[in-house]
Amino acid sequence: MSATQEIRFFNSMGRKLERFEPLEAGKVRLYACGPTVYNHPHIGNHRTFLFEDFLRRGLRFLGYEVEQVMNLTDIDDKTIRGAQQNGVSLDEFTATYVDSFFEDLDALHVERAEHYPRATEHLPEMIALVERLLERGYAYTSDGSVFFRIAADDDYGRLSGVDLDHVRRGERVAQDEYDKEDVRDFVLWKAAKEGEPTWDSPWGPGRPGWHLECSAMSMKYLGESFDLHCGGVDNMFPHHENEIAQSESATGKPFVHTWLHAEHLIVDGQKMSKSLGNQYTLKDLLARGAEPRALRYLFLATHYRQRLNFSFEALKAAGAALKRIDEMRFRLAHATETEAPHEDVEQAARRLTDDFTAAVADDLNSSAALGAVFQFVKEVNKAIEDGRLGHGDRQRAVDALARVDQVLGVLDPAAWQEAAGGHGDDEIERKVRERQEARERRDFAASDRLRDELQALGVLVEDTPQGPRWRRA
Ligand SMILES: [Zn+2]
Repeated sequence: MSATQEIRFFNSMGRKLERFEPLEAGKVRLYACGPTVYNHPHIGNHRTFLFEDFLRRGLRFLGYEVEQVMNLTDIDDKTIRGAQQNGVSLDEFTATYVDSFFEDLDALHVERAEHYPRATEHLPEMIALVERLLERGYAYTSDGSVFFRIAADDDYGRLSGVDLDHVRRGERVAQDEYDKEDVRDFVLWKAAKEGEPTWDSPWGPGRPGWHLECSAMSMKYLGESFDLHCGGVDNMFPHHENEIAQSESATGKPFVHTWLHAEHLIVDGQKMSKSLGNQYTLKDLLARGAEPRALRYLFLATHYRQRLNFSFEALKAAGAALKRIDEMRFRLAHATETEAPHEDVEQAARRLTDDFTAAVADDLNSSAALGAVFQFVKEVNKAIEDGRLGHGDRQRAVDALARVDQVLGVLDPAAWQEAAGGHGDDEIERKVRERQEARERRDFAASDRLRDELQALGVLVEDTPQGPRWRRA
C-alpha cells in the first residue's frame, strides 16, 4: 500500500472534516495522552487507547511511517496520594500500575508506541519550558509556584470554545491557589508541600503541573510542531487547552495540526462511576470470561466520535460476530478448489481491500471497515457453497483477511494460515467425536453447537445404534 489514499480527519480544532497531510511526507508524528498510573485502567480508558491503536495501525496500513508518543503520568495528585496512603515511594507505587497498563495493552493486542516517556524522567525539559514562558511574559512566580498568565494569551480556549470568564466566575479559589493573579490562571509548577516528593527548580523545590508534562514530552520527541494529538473528549478542557497555551506561547509556533478526540464510554446507558459499581477494568471483564478480541471488536464497531454503550449483551454479540468470521475459516479449510477458473474470490478480495482502505481513510470509520469484512465473508461463503473456489483461492481469501486484520487485530493469523492449506477429514472426525462425547455426558449445549459447526461445514451427522455416522450434505 502506498500513501496515495486521501485521508480525512475530523479536526476538533475548528470542528470540521479536513484533508490530512503530515508535515513531513510519508511520516506521521502522533501524541496520545497516556494513563495516570495510580490504578488499573478502566474500559473507558481502553476505549480511547483502542481508538488510538486503530489510528496508528490505520495510518501504517495506508502507507505511513508512524512515530507515536504516549506519556505515563507518574507525578500528579493521585499518584502522590496513592504512594502516601500505601507508605511506599512514588516509583514503587506507580510501578504496579505501569505493569498493569502494559499487561492490558498486550491482552488487547495494542501495538506499542515508539516512546513511553515518564514525567519523573523529564524534569529538566519541563523546567526549561517554564523558563521560556517566564522569559516571554506568559508566566509569573508566586511563593515558589509558577502560574500561566491567561490574560497574556489572546486565543486561549479556541479548541474547546470554552469561555473562562463564564466558567470561572464565582468559582472558589482553591486553598493553595490564593497567590494567583487571576482566578483563570493555571499552575505550571507547584511549590513543595509537606510530605510530598519534590524536585529542585530555579523557583525552589516543588513539582510540575500535569498539563506541563504533556507539552514538554510531546515537543521533546516530536518537535515543536507535529501532526496529531489525541485523547478522550474529557481531556479537551482544560488539559489540551493548557497544553496549547503553554506550547505555543513558549515557541511562537503552531503546536499541533490535527486534534482527534474519542467520545465517552457509558455502561448500560449510564455514566460509568465507582458508586454505581459499573466502572469495569479490563481485569474485571477477563475474570468474567470476556474474550479480549471480542472487546476489541465491540469498541471498533462504534465510530470513535460516537458515545459507546458497553453492556455484557453487546460483548456477547461481538463474540458471536467474530465467530461468524471463524466459521468461514472452517468452511474454507474444507472446501475443494477447482481447476476451473473462477474469479469470485479474487474480486471479493479486491473489493475488501478497496472498501476497507476507503473506510479507514474516511475519518477512521471502523464500523464501515468491519462492514467490508462481513461483505467479504458473505461473498466467500457463497463462492464455497456454489463450488466456485478457483485454484489458490483459499490462500487468496486468507491473505485478504490477514491484510485487513493488521488494522483490526481480531483474528488468529496462525489458524487462518493453517486453513489456507486446507484440511482432510481429520477435523470433521474430531468434531463428530467431540459431539458424541458431549452427548454422552449430557452436555446438550455443546453437542448442539458442534452439530451446527458441522452443518456449517456441509456435514450431516446421523446417530445410529453403532454410533454416529457422517456424510457430506
Ligand atoms: Zn496529556
